[in-house]
Amino acid sequence: MQTKYMTIVFDDGPLPFMCEMVDLFNQYDFKAGFAVMGDRINDDTEYMLKHAIDNGFQLVGHSHSHPRLETVTHEQVIKEMTEPIADVKNRTGYDMKNWARLPNLCRDEQVLQICKELKLILLGHGILCGHDWTPDANAETIAKETLETACDGAVACMHVREQTYKALVTILPELKKRGFNLVTPDELFKIKGKTDIPFGVHIHNVNDI
Ligand SMILES: [Zn+2]
Repeated sequence: MQTKYMTIVFDDGPLPFMCEMVDLFNQYDFKAGFAVMGDRINDDTEYMLKHAIDNGFQLVGHSHSHPRLETVTHEQVIKEMTEPIADVKNRTGYDMKNWARLPNLCRDEQVLQICKELKLILLGHGILCGHDWTPDANAETIAKETLETACDGAVACMHVREQTYKALVTILPELKKRGFNLVTPDELFKIKGKTDIPFGVHIHNVNDI
C-alpha cells in the first residue's frame, strides 16, 4: 500500500484539548499543525504551545484577534498577521516564520495581496472536516465527513475543540489503517518536493502547486 500524506491544521488555539490532541497524535506517530491566535497566548496557555513544540508539531499564525480581515485597514491586516509571530517567539523561542492560516477562511483579494507582500504561506482548507466549528457538528459527523474526504496532499482544517478531539479518537486509527501518514505542513511540502511555495495563495492541496 502506497503511503498517502496529509496535514491537519487545528485553528483557534491555544485552547483546552490542544495538549490532549498532541498526545493522541503521538500514539499513532502522527504530527499536525496548530494555527494560533496572539490574544490567546498568555501565562496560562503558554504551556500548550510548548507541549506542541516539544513534540515536533508545527505552529502557524492565525491572526491576533480573529477579525474579518477584509473589514479592517491595510495596517491592521499587517499587524494582525505579524504580531503572533513575535508573540510566540518571545514566549517560546519558536519561529513560526511565514506560515499562516487566515481567520474565517477569508478570500478577499486585497487581503491576499497584503499576504503576498508579507511573503506568507497560506494554509487553506482542502478538507473542511465536517465543519467541526459549527454548533451542529458532533464527533460522529466530524469523523464521518473527514474520513469520506481525506485524500493525499490535502491541507485539512479543524479546530481545537472537545468535539473535534472526540472525533479524532475515531479518525486517527482509521487513517493509519488506510495507509495515511499525517505530518506537519512543513513536512508535507518537503515530502511532495514543493520547495517553491507561492505566497499569498490559499493552498488547499499540496499536489496542486
Ligand atoms: Zn479561526
